[in-house]
Amino acid sequence: MAYDDSNIFAKILRGEIPNDMVMETEHTLAFNDIAPQRPVHVLVIPKGAYVSSDDFSARASDAEIADFFRTVGEVARQRGVAESGYRLISNAGEDGHQEVPHFHMHVIGGAPAGPMLKKQD
Ligand code: 5GP
Repeated sequence: MAYDDSNIFAKILRGEIPNDMVMETEHTLAFNDIAPQRPVHVLVIPKGAYVSSDDFSARASDAEIADFFRTVGEVARQRGVAESGYRLISNAGEDGHQEVPHFHMHVIGGAPAGPMLKKQD
C-alpha cells in the first residue's frame, strides 16, 4: 500500500493540525489519542512516511526503529504504567481495522485492558 500523505497523522507531523504532545525525539512523535480508550492512551508515530508495522520494519533505518521502540518504552515509564501494565496495539490494513494509514503504536493503560480480542461470531 502506497503512503498517502493526506492522512491525519501526516498533517499533525506537518504542523497543520495541533496535537497534545507527550514527547518528541529525532525520529518519533508521541501524543495523546483524541478519543482515549483508557486513562493513558498515547499514540507513538515515526516521523517518516510509513504505512504500517511491516512497511516500517522493511524500509526504516535501524536508527528510526531503535528510536521508535525506545520512545514507546519511555512513554510507558513516563506515564506511569510500566509497573501497573499496559497494552501495545498496532492495527494494520483492513483486517487490522487501521483507521489512519500512518504507522502508529497505541500505548494503553491506567486501567485493565480486558481480554485481547472478542471471539468471532
Ligand atoms: P487506528 O484505528 O488507525 O489504529 O487508530 C487511529 C487512532 O487515531 C484512533 O484511536 C483515533 O482516536 C486517533 N485519532 C484520529 N484522529 C486523531 C486526531 O486528529 N488527533 C489525535 N490525537 N488522535 C486521532
